[in-house]
Amino acid sequence: MSHRVKFVFHQRSAQLDPLPGIGECQPGFFKAAASGDKCELCPANTQRRDPGASFCPCSDGFYRAPTDPPSGPCSGLPSAPRDLVATTTQLSTGKLHLSWSAPEDTGGRTDITYSVECQRCEGAVCQPCGEKVRYEPASAGLTRTKVSVSELDAHLNYTFVVEAHSGVSPFAGQAAPRSDRPPITTMRLVERTSASLSLSWDVSPRIRVQPRPIRYELTYRKKDDNLDVTTYIVLLLEKNFVQISDLAPGTAYLFRVQALGGDGSPGGSSIEEQFETSLEGRLTQNNTAVIFGAAVVGAAVLFVVILVLFLRRRKRNSHSRQGPEDTYFSSSEQLKPLKTYVDPHTYEDPNIAVLKFATEIHPSHITKQKVIGAGEFGEVYRGNLKMPGRKEVAVAIKTLKPGYTEKQRQDFLSEASIMGQFSHQNIIRLEGVVTKFKHAMIVTEYMENGALDRYLKDHDGEFPSFQLVGMMHGIAGGMKYLSDMSYVHRDLAARNILVNNNLECKVSDFGLSRGGKIPIRWTAPEAIAYRKFTSASDVWSFGIVMWEVMAFGERPYWDMSNHEVMKAINEAFRLPAPMDCPSAVYQLMLQCWLQDRSKRPRFGDIVSLLDKLLRSPDSLKTIADFDPRVSIRLPSTSGSDGSPFRSVSEWLESIKMSQYSENFTCAGVVTMDHVLQMKNE
Ligand code: AMP
Repeated sequence: MSHRVKFVFHQRSAQLDPLPGIGECQPGFFKAAASGDKCELCPANTQRRDPGASFCPCSDGFYRAPTDPPSGPCSGLPSAPRDLVATTTQLSTGKLHLSWSAPEDTGGRTDITYSVECQRCEGAVCQPCGEKVRYEPASAGLTRTKVSVSELDAHLNYTFVVEAHSGVSPFAGQAAPRSDRPPITTMRLVERTSASLSLSWDVSPRIRVQPRPIRYELTYRKKDDNLDVTTYIVLLLEKNFVQISDLAPGTAYLFRVQALGGDGSPGGSSIEEQFETSLEGRLTQNNTAVIFGAAVVGAAVLFVVILVLFLRRRKRNSHSRQGPEDTYFSSSEQLKPLKTYVDPHTYEDPNIAVLKFATEIHPSHITKQKVIGAGEFGEVYRGNLKMPGRKEVAVAIKTLKPGYTEKQRQDFLSEASIMGQFSHQNIIRLEGVVTKFKHAMIVTEYMENGALDRYLKDHDGEFPSFQLVGMMHGIAGGMKYLSDMSYVHRDLAARNILVNNNLECKVSDFGLSRGGKIPIRWTAPEAIAYRKFTSASDVWSFGIVMWEVMAFGERPYWDMSNHEVMKAINEAFRLPAPMDCPSAVYQLMLQCWLQDRSKRPRFGDIVSLLDKLLRSPDSLKTIADFDPRVSIRLPSTSGSDGSPFRSVSEWLESIKMSQYSENFTCAGVVTMDHVLQMKNE
């Protein structure tokens, strides 16, 4: 989207030149009102319509800066800077150099300056990198085509936006005010079947920085519908993707997607695209259509580069060494899969891991106000964080109780090393750590409503299903992010989900403190039996969280013992549907609890399904029946004669799990006392 200015210097023609001082200027000429001078030819990029003009107004899309003479030409906006390159010699220090070439078209001006903006993008949502990032010499008003950026985290992805500005940019902004409606730039077909189409689209990256959530209105219709009787279907969406089902096979549909402004007002900038369902079968197609929107937004002239800085640590010669200091450029399609969770245990010195993934905070910037909970390692406080040059924010502060061993300190801080690698709306955000002082602390965003299980118990029956499903959708989004990063949580439970003022749910508790103890009633059978913890076992736990949410924080399997729970699960019993639970939601729970883990849905499927349910609230109206065939029986807590089991093998036999007796022995569970200790919720 560039305004190209062609300076065509018109030859003055003696024939057309009116006589000095005689009459009005002809169209295309002007002279200042009171002057007796000759009429002058309107300069480049001006309107040359009216006779008798005292000056020539700018043509559409061209402007005069306040300092430009009214008799001079008008100029357009500069085109995008080109050839943006990032280089680094010291990635470990979080510094890189950006350079670029001047715009191909300067709009005919010499007063070109540049600005650079750093963003962190997750899918379609981008946020400014924050004030921590430093620019040398500056981030705006640059007259040279390079800048150094420092204080970057080596393991994170960054997007840099370089804009070219000129003296007419602010002026152009006034003439065409910057819309807060994000222009859609591309729409693509992700997948199609004979009955469905999955589409996704992008918004202009420059606009995505706005903090407000963006919503979209998708309108579609059959292409060949007679226009008099066309049925338009309009969907209001919160995400930049959609799967539309119940379509006719082999049929072309026209889709128009429009972003809505922060106030919900419909935007003018949208694109229309045609996609066809397949005749039969399934076909995946990528990027079949890419349309570039031509929305003009003020002076914004963009050049976006996606820069992925990815640092992998490898052990070499028993020294923990830094991995290759690579800078990759990737096209936007290749962006996502590069991010993988790094286990802090792969670092020989966990203190290095924490410095790598977490920001060190000086304790003087932290104020503790009130104890709000008891963590595994010490008290959790509510408090404030006031970093220099930043707004004060409410935080939760986890502390390490005095008398800790070095191992406990490292285990405590490992949670920060893990949390610091994540950046997602539904994952608790790490603000930083205190490691260089006696009292180590972990500082995270503050979640006003605390743990989800407690919160729901306190608000029993107060939320409609729709809202509860919204909570699950958020949790599933966070878990999808974690599973995409190959992180397995192992302790997903409502007690480890935190809730903020907006009822947003965020996954927390990344501690390594569990020391091998397994939360039996949240854990998949294969993880209990032979420690097969995978994203599929997290999906099982997610099913239990869904149950906890629909049952307003009820304890799963009530007062049954762990032993009874395992026995029942092994006998194919499952938790019954909570009261008033929508049937579709309970069906999803049952899918999460399939014995064969490969048959369980993945978090991506769960997010899509919950998304679909939220978009058609009628789908939540059918309430699940209580089905005695799948519901849990209450098995007895001891053997059939009432006496407790004497050995692990006797106990395993009673729950039909004898085949795992060797796994239990290997895991050190050799007496019934050990079995009883496995309980740790
Ligand atoms: P944890 O050690 O993470 O299990 O935290 C113990 C308790 O402290 C939780 O159950 C919450 O009640 C509270 N808590 C922990 N982190 C936060 C937070 N970020 N915001 C609010 N409360 C929190």
